[in-house]
Amino acid sequence: MNIHEYQAKALLKKYGAPVSRGVAVFSPDEAEKAAAELGGPLWVVKSQIHAGGRGKGKFKEAEAGEKGGVRLAKSVEEVKTFAGQMLGNTLVTIQTGPAGKQVNRLYIEEGSDIAKEFYLSLLVDRETSRVAFVVSTEGGMDIEEVAHATPEKILTFSVDPVTGVQGFHGRKVAAALGLTGDLAKQASKLTDVLYSAFTASDMAMLEINPLIVTKDNRLVVLDAKVSFDSNAMYRHADLAELRDESEEDAKEIEASKYDLAYIALDGTIGCMVNGAGLAMATLDIIKLYGESPANFLDVGGGASEEKVTAAFKIITADPQVQGILVNIFGGIMKCDVIARGVIAAVKTVGLQVPLVVRLEGTNVEEGKKIIRESGLNVIPADDLDDAAQKIVASVKKGA
Ligand code: ADP
Ligand code: MG
Repeated sequence: MNIHEYQAKALLKKYGAPVSRGVAVFSPDEAEKAAAELGGPLWVVKSQIHAGGRGKGKFKEAEAGEKGGVRLAKSVEEVKTFAGQMLGNTLVTIQTGPAGKQVNRLYIEEGSDIAKEFYLSLLVDRETSRVAFVVSTEGGMDIEEVAHATPEKILTFSVDPVTGVQGFHGRKVAAALGLTGDLAKQASKLTDVLYSAFTASDMAMLEINPLIVTKDNRLVVLDAKVSFDSNAMYRHADLAELRDESEEDAKEIEASKYDLAYIALDGTIGCMVNGAGLAMATLDIIKLYGESPANFLDVGGGASEEKVTAAFKIITADPQVQGILVNIFGGIMKCDVIARGVIAAVKTVGLQVPLVVRLEGTNVEEGKKIIRESGLNVIPADDLDDAAQKIVASVKKGA
């Protein structure tokens, strides 16, 4: 689960991280009021969307101009004007994809006098099974680019969960950023604070880009991107409330209501599969035969007919889908349950695209019989290879 920058900053502030003063707003009038309260002389109007690269992004609408999603304002009036230009419009950044994201809230923040910009992030490192720090002097830039062009400018280390963060970790961060004296102390404290915030709230990633040194020698978290481990959200009711569903894919939200493992993709073939491994293999083989999957969907082991029906409805409601492949290897999952779920869904939503069904395993004969007798226009397949070729051929014929 992702949250907005202003929410991430409020959370980090609770743990003692240095952030600037700011107010989240939903209208130009609120922006004006917030700017007056903050007092200036410099403000920053920041689009709040779940994507980075806002500063260098561009709005689709001409009225918002080519100025990007993070703008410096020198007066209260300017704050209000920028807010009016950004709100309701669509911001396209390197992270949003070409469709962009609509800006519905802004963060009005006091402007900082920046002396230096750094990069600092924490993430769960699967190789060491630990929380890792990534530190670089190259702030405000795309870290992937830095890693590619100048890998020597990035320091990475992980923290032993038994001891937690220790003094030497803080000194490592300070040294990597070339900080001494009081700034080194601030860096040490920040290292502590960020590790505490990360572990206590079950974050999956915390990225500060940039972390800045101000002209009056303060370390400030100027941007913050946080995502939490969704599987741990049951432990954090307060954080779960920060979820902004308007930032998420509607199909994924619907799928999460039924506890389906569903991820929207951008291809044309809707897939309903049981088991993550078989789902991955299905996506691969569709690619192999020259089409692309519209989604990843694992209906799980003991899915009910209701769950299967919901899954099928989500797939058929997707306008991108030009063909559907049901690929079930029934172990715990029974083929007749799948068959009934598919038919129940088709009865309510209809079927406008070709459907290939491959069933194998527990109660396979019963499943096949249910589909045969339903009168549905289903293309049966014998194995994964056959099924993939058939759905790809049907979609290509229709296109
Ligand atoms: P994004 O990474 O999405 O582009 P940032 O929050 O990193 O958004 O903002 C982009 C740039 O704007 C920063 O690198 C920084 O130079 C500038 N900036 C952001 N917030 C402030 C602020 N409060 N005061 C001064 N400059 C800022
Ligand atoms: Mg940034």
